[in-house]
Amino acid sequence: MSERYKIAVLPGDGIGPEIMAVGVAVLQAVGPRHGLDFEFVEALAGGAAIDATGEPLPVQTLELCRRSDAVYLGAVGGPQWDTLGADKRPERALLGLRAGLGLFANLRPAIVLPQLIDASTLKREVIEGVDILVVRELIGGIYFGQPKGIFPEIKGVRRGVNTMSYSEVEIERIGRVAFESARKRKGRLCSVDKANVLEVSQLWREKITALAREYPDVELTHMYVDNCAMQLVRWPKQFDTIVTGNLFGDILSDEAAMLTGSIGMLPSASLSRGGTGVFEPVHGSAPDIAGQDKANPLAQVLSGAMLLRYGLGQPEAADAIERAVGTVLDQGWRTGDIAGPNTQVIGCQAMGEKLLTVL
Ligand code: NAD
Repeated sequence: MSERYKIAVLPGDGIGPEIMAVGVAVLQAVGPRHGLDFEFVEALAGGAAIDATGEPLPVQTLELCRRSDAVYLGAVGGPQWDTLGADKRPERALLGLRAGLGLFANLRPAIVLPQLIDASTLKREVIEGVDILVVRELIGGIYFGQPKGIFPEIKGVRRGVNTMSYSEVEIERIGRVAFESARKRKGRLCSVDKANVLEVSQLWREKITALAREYPDVELTHMYVDNCAMQLVRWPKQFDTIVTGNLFGDILSDEAAMLTGSIGMLPSASLSRGGTGVFEPVHGSAPDIAGQDKANPLAQVLSGAMLLRYGLGQPEAADAIERAVGTVLDQGWRTGDIAGPNTQVIGCQAMGEKLLTVL
């Protein structure tokens, strides 16, 4: 008997539909070989949804996502919607999904594949073998803390305020995701904070340290965020799993991602407590190459592998997809963004076809 899963598919805008077609085809191919039966249900999100309904995340889309086992998202946004008010922009769909599904944990791997070492701006010996997972808290911290706002003039001077705040409950739930993730990797977790200056970080460090007693198989270290920013470019191989709050994670996950030098290769997962997760590439909708069959679909495909691993608990099927990506790169096939010497440049669709032949 195969296991049946309902997947909400939100292709979005720009290159979203092109890369999503490849992502879905790969899942469809891998599923039956691992006893998985997928029902894909497509819905509108982002600019496409604004054009059709006036809303970046229509109620029906959020409802579908809530009723699904996982959400597979392409990318949203584009210049044609840039003049809309902040609450009507396509990117609102992402915030709506985070809030609506309670996505408090964002997982972003930064893996330097041997075939793409030359895509990085760093020296080979620094980045060879880098395999980092950044676990970022996503719905707390300074982006959401109260009070926030630009407050009226006192003696002719206005004041802008944001509040960095984390409760023990919020720290513990992201901590657990991080320890569990580290356990599935090399068993090393580095918690990043600014405990030398911020009280919120002192509580963070205290709670994460206490939690470590429940995970004796995971080696926990702590690092200040400014040092971590330096260490990531100095010697990134020292890191396995990193856990941090929303603001620090926003910056460090981008820094870690760029170690790899290839934005078209980077997947991500956003998880809730036992509920539906969202799996999407790190990159945006790339309007400059949309509709030209030039997009790299591999970040979308690797997000599909994360969907299987973290969303559905199907690591073997995830491994099969990741292996297929490695094989196709070994064969020398590249989209334009990752092309190098002795490689053959192909389009988005052809890359999908190559993957299907090696799955
Ligand atoms: P982007 O990531 O879309 O593009 C940056 C550059 O990388 C472009 O030159 C693009 O062509 C290239 N690129 C990105 N993905 C690629 C791929 N798969 N294959 C080949 N090349 C790729 O970032 P941007 O240009 O700053 O933003 C474009 C739009 O996307 C904006 O509307 C932005 O708000 C939106 N955006 C959406 C998300 C999301 O949906 N999660 C994330 C970031 C940006």
